[in-house]
Amino acid sequence: MRSIIHVDMDAFFASVEQHDNPALRGRPVMVGGGSHRGVVAAASYEARQFGVRSAMPGMKARRLCPQGVFVKSRFARYREVSAEIFAIFRGYTDLVEGLSLDEAFLDVTESTGQGMDLEQIGRALKREIGQVCGLTASVGMSHNKLLAKLASDYDKPDGFVLVLAEDTERFLDPLPIRRLPGIGPRSASKLHDAGIHTAGQLRKTAKDLLRELFGEHGAELARRAAGIDERPVKSSRVRRSISQENTFSQDHTSLETLRPVLMEQALQVADSLHRKNLYARTVTLKLRSSGFSTLTRSSSLEGYTRSAELIGRTALELLENWAEWRSAFAVRLVGVGVSSLEAQPALESVLDPAPDQ
Ligand SMILES: [Mg+2]
Repeated sequence: MRSIIHVDMDAFFASVEQHDNPALRGRPVMVGGGSHRGVVAAASYEARQFGVRSAMPGMKARRLCPQGVFVKSRFARYREVSAEIFAIFRGYTDLVEGLSLDEAFLDVTESTGQGMDLEQIGRALKREIGQVCGLTASVGMSHNKLLAKLASDYDKPDGFVLVLAEDTERFLDPLPIRRLPGIGPRSASKLHDAGIHTAGQLRKTAKDLLRELFGEHGAELARRAAGIDERPVKSSRVRRSISQENTFSQDHTSLETLRPVLMEQALQVADSLHRKNLYARTVTLKLRSSGFSTLTRSSSLEGYTRSAELIGRTALELLENWAEWRSAFAVRLVGVGVSSLEAQPALESVLDPAPDQ
């Protein structure tokens, strides 16, 4: 069974504006839509209380909410915050499928397979987003994408909902059919006419009737209503980092036990670089405590390398510097990663080239 997290930032553009400008906090904020023919790109939750929605013409938004504040959109800024959020996601897994600037699926099956708890991972992720970006996210967790997305949407904003496999029907059955993906207004009115209003009713509807109403698509709707979804999380970008990490069965506080682990990881990372014919310029050390706070420290080298020794030495330096100021942090997971990858760096910028080069 998979472990999937769906993260969706709450009123993302508007929240970024409220975060960056404290004078906007607690007020109805509309991003875009200030000009004559403009459309609202995002509305804060305060504005939504007046019925303002994204994609609504600014004129209408102004009528619904005359006291609202219109701010110009700043997409460069939203992209910047988005990059921060996605960097946090990638601290948890390589399998991140971005759906938009502020929304993604994460497959953390590997971590839960190593004994970590899906709910704890979700909580750590949500907390880290809050700490790093000062924004709230709604987080849904379940064993597939369909349920994880419905879960994140269930208690928005600032939602945190876990749907366990055994609770699938209890969670889904009462949901109005419109909440299910793929059921638009037309399908919904067909179903309403047939007396089907909830996912539970849809799940129990005879296959023949669904085929009559929707043709081949009917069976798929019934599967959704039953919470069945086999789609994998597809990593939405090319690999930009290579890393190795190990989770311990107990906490470690001493450098002595961590050193050999780091050196072994550096060896494996260097090996990966060789196999993929890449060089790297940035070395990252990742540590996670048993309380699941994650800490990463990076160091950029003077040039590119694929040398295990150099990568290992750099990771050790990061560890030693870190250990000085945070000796109380017990380590449950340690990892070495490299990024700023390059297939053909200029020869003079290659550090410590391996003998076969
Ligand atoms: Mg969002």
